[in-house]
Amino acid sequence: MSMTMSLAAQENGLTADDPPAFQCPSGHLEVYATDPELARRICDIEKQTAPTLAACGMSDRTPLSLYVVQRIEAAGPHCLGAYICETDEIAVVAPEQLATLEVLSDIYRSMDAAVLFDSLVVHEITHARLTKALQGEELSVASHEYIAYAMQMASLPSAVRQSLEDVRAEGPVDRSAINELTLFFGGPDAFAPLVWRHFQTDGNGCDFVKSLIDGTTILGLPPDS
Ligand SMILES: [Zn+2]
Repeated sequence: MSMTMSLAAQENGLTADDPPAFQCPSGHLEVYATDPELARRICDIEKQTAPTLAACGMSDRTPLSLYVVQRIEAAGPHCLGAYICETDEIAVVAPEQLATLEVLSDIYRSMDAAVLFDSLVVHEITHARLTKALQGEELSVASHEYIAYAMQMASLPSAVRQSLEDVRAEGPVDRSAINELTLFFGGPDAFAPLVWRHFQTDGNGCDFVKSLIDGTTILGLPPDS
């Protein structure tokens, strides 16, 4: 998800006890995490994801800050990741914490916590890169989340993706179902498989993502519905 509250205003914001920033060698990300191994892994994820994002029209790599946190207070207990566009900050709930969460979407619960964590990093970095690609233009929530979930699902090891029952479902996807109601009431369990099945259909993929970015396609419910 994306949100507007500053991380610094949260309990998780920077304090004297927080770990120093780990600068990724690429210069495109700084990571705040207590585990240096995890920080390096996050740097690798950003680097590995960049070509995929660029192919889909999101080539901007303005430096971001990513915080590995125990929880995201401002957005409630069900929020696993957030991007704050005003400050180019990302927060993602730590892998060891993800493993202990009692309330977790089925699709996420079925994944190893490390795999889930990595995919959440991709999701939030996508929101950040997409925001830059939009150059101030607005996008519907469904369109923004379509792109973030498409990149997240694409980043999963194919064996993990194939283990998700709803992702394997065959047949055409009703594009009108990829809307805000499905997202808010169905959560990732309902939204992510629909997005992935639509995204990987012939003729969609990055071409479809680019059409969302340039505004020729709009996903979601009309504003007055
Ligand atoms: Zn999101």
